[in-house]
Amino acid sequence: MSDRVETLEFQAEARQLLQLMVHSIYSNKDVFLRELISNASDALDKLRLESLIDKDLAVDTADLHIEIEVDRDTRTLTVRDNGIGMSRDEVVGLIGTIAKSGTAELLGKLRQSKDAAASQELIGQFGVGFYATFMVADKVTLLTRRAGQSGGTRWESAGEGTYTVEAVDDAPQGTAVTLHLKPADTEDNLHDYTAEWTIREIVKRYSDFIAWPIRMTVERPGEGGETTREVQTLNSMKALWARSRDEVDEAEYKEFYKHVSHDWADPLETIHMRGEGTFEYEALLFLPSHAPLDLFSPQGRRGVQLYVKRVFIMDDCDALMPNYLRFVKGVVDAHDLSLNISREILQQDRQIRAVRRRLVKKVLATLKEMKADRADAYRTFWTEFGAVVKEGLLEDPDNTEALLDLVQVASTHDPAELTTLREYVERMKDGQTDVYYATGESRTTIENSPHLEAFRAKGYEVLILTDPVDEVWVERVGQFDGKPLRSVAKGHVDLETDEEREKAEADRKDYAELLSWMSGKLADSVKEVRLSSRLTTSPACVVGDAHDMTPTLEKMYRAMGQEVPRVKRILELNPTHPLVTGLRKAHEQDGDSEALAETAELLYGMALLAEGGELTDPARFARILADRLARSL
Ligand code: ADP
Repeated sequence: MSDRVETLEFQAEARQLLQLMVHSIYSNKDVFLRELISNASDALDKLRLESLIDKDLAVDTADLHIEIEVDRDTRTLTVRDNGIGMSRDEVVGLIGTIAKSGTAELLGKLRQSKDAAASQELIGQFGVGFYATFMVADKVTLLTRRAGQSGGTRWESAGEGTYTVEAVDDAPQGTAVTLHLKPADTEDNLHDYTAEWTIREIVKRYSDFIAWPIRMTVERPGEGGETTREVQTLNSMKALWARSRDEVDEAEYKEFYKHVSHDWADPLETIHMRGEGTFEYEALLFLPSHAPLDLFSPQGRRGVQLYVKRVFIMDDCDALMPNYLRFVKGVVDAHDLSLNISREILQQDRQIRAVRRRLVKKVLATLKEMKADRADAYRTFWTEFGAVVKEGLLEDPDNTEALLDLVQVASTHDPAELTTLREYVERMKDGQTDVYYATGESRTTIENSPHLEAFRAKGYEVLILTDPVDEVWVERVGQFDGKPLRSVAKGHVDLETDEEREKAEADRKDYAELLSWMSGKLADSVKEVRLSSRLTTSPACVVGDAHDMTPTLEKMYRAMGQEVPRVKRILELNPTHPLVTGLRKAHEQDGDSEALAETAELLYGMALLAEGGELTDPARFARILADRLARSL
């Protein structure tokens, strides 16, 4: 037999993660059992589904169940299911590697985090599934046979870098995971996982709602003093979502969340609802307390599972939740669907679309309540998921109003707090008609950008938008409460008093020649040079026309591989700045000269740098500047 044993190496990330488990960086070791039961339950769901779809699959589905077996003498614990099982390749692919996106990132963060509590939390947010077994076992054996195949596979590892796989002829269908438990020492193993009551308690606490029986053979003293053995079912198997809210306690909801989400942390909010009438369904949804690492990855998993009358149908049911609510986890049990419904048909189904609309409304209403009643929780939510929710302003025009009420953004009003659009409007100055915003890569760049100068001088509040999606939704939505949303870096700003307007008129005459000369000199870079009413201290800034794409957005599209035309912007000069007045005088005297042309170029370059932008030819800019400085010494 031994020539059938192959020794393979774990993938690098898997190896590192295993190391963490072997050295027990996670304190709540009991969760290993929850993870094994959760996997077993999924395997049973999959088998039932496959047998419904594939009538030729020769499997017995009459008694699908999970079995826990302990042996005190050998100190082993086995969790067995008669579910779908795995082929050899699946064992290698699924158990030998971690396909979860964000693993490398997680490991990087773990390496940086010095303190144990933070590491715990990171691991908890990530969830390590099957590998959790290595917190309590020094060797794990897995014996499995895929439904429909004749041979099985034995997998074994001590968690130290390699594992073995071996073909076996006589494996029962399904999967049995055997843990060779670490010695029951003092501190590390608080719980004895070979004790019946320990197992019973862990199952009750973490896995009571599992829809399949979890059985264990227990020993009881018989009447005549001898020991008798009986099989007991440890869980109540009640589908949580089918019960009414007052029959379920918080702890049960939390554990169920962990089962469906593979998250080890508690959810932030639970939504339990029921739809009655022509199309009946139950939904149990959760808002997580932290964003998964794959939130912005196109392969990221969505969280809603579809059931039909308690039968699991599919994971990741995108027909039930729009993309911008992809972080919502949970279960929807629809009563009147066919069991072998496909994803494509679901997308078209009128009733499913109606359910989706109701779910979206409910999630948005829950968020609204949370924002009103649980400000701290809402702040957490918004920090984690705000950038995703804002995608809804592009995707879901039916809910624009509700979404705008949820939006929280930074503002010049208070550096420490986010504000809502409503609060901004309430603070608007007399005579102010527009909601002003600035977009950019960071709060600091925006705050230091010349575009804000006049607004600051006049005491106007400006919203500070730094998420990439902000650039797009403000354009798309256009207004709030009837008030136009206006970028401080676009179009003309009109904050002037009559007196200032008169002066501006006079300036325009005085500067006409300089402006037209400069427009010509910088024609390759800008479409116009004009005077500014938004500057107080900077000599110049660059602005766009009202509907021009911003440089950040241009960059974003390019980064996504899309061809977009380069947008020329407008250079605005501050007629009160000595550099600008000096340039005008010099131009009146000398007309056109190379030195003046270079000054014009420097002015434009400085304006770009001041808003956090990039120069097209930084070396040239530096050379001209160095020459100037040298001459001034
Ligand atoms: P997760 O469950 O979070 O995906 P795990 O490491 O727990 O990660 O498991 C990896 C994969 O291995 C599972 O997604 C599943 O496909 C497979 N697997 C684990 N346990 C079983 C089992 N008992 N039966 C069938 N497949 C299993």
